[in-house]
Parts: sequence; C-alpha cells; structure tokens
Amino acid sequence: MQTFNPYEAPQSAFADTSTESDDRHGPWRDGADLIALRDSHLPGRCVKCNAPGKTRLKKIYYWHSAWWLLLILFNLLVYALAAMIVRKKCRLEASLCERHARHRSRLIAAALACLGGFALALGLGIANDSGPLLLAAGLMMLVGIVVGVIAGRTLYPKRITERYARFGGGGREFLATLPAFREPGI
Ligand SMILES: [Zn+2]
Repeated sequence: MQTFNPYEAPQSAFADTSTESDDRHGPWRDGADLIALRDSHLPGRCVKCNAPGKTRLKKIYYWHSAWWLLLILFNLLVYALAAMIVRKKCRLEASLCERHARHRSRLIAAALACLGGFALALGLGIANDSGPLLLAAGLMMLVGIVVGVIAGRTLYPKRITERYARFGGGGREFLATLPAFREPGI
C-alpha cells in the first residue's frame, strides 16, 4: 500500500538536481565527447575511469567560436573585449575518484612549485645578473604553465550552445555508461 509522505523529497526530473544520466536530460556521449545540458550535474562517478566519485569539481567553463581569435591579428584588446561579450558560459559539476583527484592535486602542486621556482630564479637571476638563472626562470615558467594547463583540462569545453555544452577529456569507461546523443549539429 502506498502512503503519502509529506516529507519525501520531490521527484523532480530537472537535470540540475539529478545525479544520474537519462536519455532525456543527459549527460550523453557523442563519440569521444561528453554532452551535457548547460548548468548541470554529472553522475557521481569519476569522469575519467567511472569508479565511485570522491571529489566533486564545480567549475564554470567559458567558450567562444575560434573565429573570434582572428581579431587578435587586428588588436589584442579588441579581441579581449569581444571575447568577454560573445563567450558562452556553462556551469558543470563533475566527480573524480580518489586516484584521479590525487593525480590532479599533484599536477596543481607541481605547477605551483614551478611558478615558485620561477619567481625565486628570476629574483636571484636579476640580483646576480646571471644569465643561466634567468634562463632557468623562463624554463620553469614554461613548464609551470604547461603542467597547469594539463591539470586544468580534466574536462574542457569544445562548444557551448544555448542549450548544450560539449566537452572533451571524459574517460572512455565513463562515457560508455551514458546514453548516445541523438540531436545533430552541436
Ligand atoms: Zn578515476
């Protein structure tokens, strides 16, 4: 017998309250890409390996069409202003398992260590007028930026439209559990 429970959580089908995927509200897979409704939550499983999620990553992603980059040829400031106006925004909450969260934290720590080393080598290089130290500073900055970009690319937006966002970086095991995306053209 079913009884009415006034304290029961409302059974809402809105994507932003759901933590599992379904055919209507996503997320979906499309080849190697992940497609989600804008501003949604992904299931509580690691987006890399599908293991139980331990860490939730709440991030805002920005995207604009690559054509706007042509404005850099004209003027960097004009491009920066245009990008601020035309970029589309998507909030996404994803999970990482313990192993992948640790991997990401290590990369972030390594990037910060490189930037710290850069500042130190730059300071010492200027104080001692040392070419090799300045070269080391430049190298450390470069490595720090590359490692930082890799750490930040757990998921990265490939396209954001009015309704959907397409992401790269999802693991094959995770994508395999999602329904296929059927709407063409995003
Ligand atoms: Zn994982």
